[in-house]
Amino acid sequence: MTVLDDIAQLATCPPDGADAGLIDAAALVWDAGRIVWAGPAADLPERFAEAERRSAGGRLVVPGLVDCHTHLVHAGDRADEFVERLEGTSYLDIARRGGGIQLSVRATRAASDHDLAEGARARLGAMLRQGVTTVEAKTGYGLTLDDELRVLRIYRDLGAAGPARIVPTLLAAHIVPPEFADDRDAYVRLICDEMIPVVAADGLAAFVDVFVEDSAFTAEEARSIFAAAARHGLGAKLHADQLTDTSGAALAAEVGAASADHLECVSAEGIHKLAEAGVVAVSLPIATLVLGQEPIPARRLLDAGVRVAVATDLNPGSAPSNSLGLALWLACTRQRMTPAEALRGATVEAARALRLDDGTGSLVPGSPADLAVVDAPSLATWLAGWRAEPAVRTVIGGRTVWEWSP
Ligand SMILES: [Zn+2]
Repeated sequence: MTVLDDIAQLATCPPDGADAGLIDAAALVWDAGRIVWAGPAADLPERFAEAERRSAGGRLVVPGLVDCHTHLVHAGDRADEFVERLEGTSYLDIARRGGGIQLSVRATRAASDHDLAEGARARLGAMLRQGVTTVEAKTGYGLTLDDELRVLRIYRDLGAAGPARIVPTLLAAHIVPPEFADDRDAYVRLICDEMIPVVAADGLAAFVDVFVEDSAFTAEEARSIFAAAARHGLGAKLHADQLTDTSGAALAAEVGAASADHLECVSAEGIHKLAEAGVVAVSLPIATLVLGQEPIPARRLLDAGVRVAVATDLNPGSAPSNSLGLALWLACTRQRMTPAEALRGATVEAARALRLDDGTGSLVPGSPADLAVVDAPSLATWLAGWRAEPAVRTVIGGRTVWEWSP
């Protein structure tokens, strides 16, 4: 049993409600990997008097951050396209001539298992140092049965090796690969009839994601893919209404998706449907910034009763950053979310977007003892600025997995 005290401010992010559950001058107790008590240090019950004590050093303690949207495994360098976009070529024009995601697919297919796993491990290590403890990880740069499976096996192995917790998602419907350009239906059938059944049978993914966009998949194609996912017990996620309004939000509501992600171009009707169906809206402000778009209408979503998560979208093109802290700061500054709403978005609401119902993303009795000690006296102080590595200690399942040392 461990008591963490000298916490200047504790954010418990309770599953119900809409606030960060802030407690000043707090203490936190865990045992066997689970939180058993959280509250003002002055109220710490006598029965914990003999427990091992650790100090947070007068800092902020938050639930371990949950990055609920990443493309963790990828290969290839798209820096040339970054420069091209700066010079005026659009993301869709680059996609149409075989760049963008297609470039990453070619590079990922050509890379060895070892190199793909090492790249992902390095990114995960950097995320741990920022207080991130759970990471959703998508495929989508393989796009053959074998390549999608090998990326999912890398995620399985990374999750088994720990310490970060991994939630794998099959994103075979990222784009139609060039070899199927003349027969899109055959590729959709490959996903539905071969990939999804094998992935489900081997327990390699929790979700199936579809990129619904002019340059990717139609709503009708997505419906068949989600029907196959449902038949095999896999949840649904969508890249929706990112570059254009394709009624992706309405589709997410229709298929009972766990989340609709991006939503920069969501309509009023789409917002209404997300609220009605209880679909989490995942905002990806780094991608919005990189592509020079208007931010997701986070305030309208929140006011309509939609829960809004915040994630990095870590990928080699539109969001080449693993900084969830940067995404949080942008959620405040560009999406007008309060620090409490932003933090909930990268903890308890992100866990909801992954359907993790074991208390992940909160620090309440029963939650996993996943937490970060942030080098700031309060949540508002942390998110009023941006630092690359704000955490000084990251704890997963009650075990310190990273600690800053001067
Ligand atoms: Zn994405």
